[in-house]
Amino acid sequence: MINQDIDFATLQGEIHCCACHHQWQGVGPSGVDWFECPKCGLYKARWRHPAVPHKDELIWVCGCKCDTFMVTGRHPPTVFCINCGKEQEF
Ligand SMILES: [Zn+2]
Ligand SMILES: [Zn+2]
Repeated sequence: MINQDIDFATLQGEIHCCACHHQWQGVGPSGVDWFECPKCGLYKARWRHPAVPHKDELIWVCGCKCDTFMVTGRHPPTVFCINCGKEQEF
């Protein structure tokens, strides 16, 4: 529940569940990164497009079908899937 007295910026857009791949249009306050998926009930859903490449651009997708990754601060950095944890090899 959001405290209505606090002036949060509200975001709206497509939300994608990394676990079951359910997608829906959602609304939420800025700063909230993870949402509960209404289909599978897991907190593995994120905004689909916090920033998007050009519509014709190919994007990297993990073998588990998740397309969201984190990059470590190691030298050289490694990239791993936020859903299954697999280190990506390009
Ligand atoms: Zn789900
Ligand atoms: Zn993965």
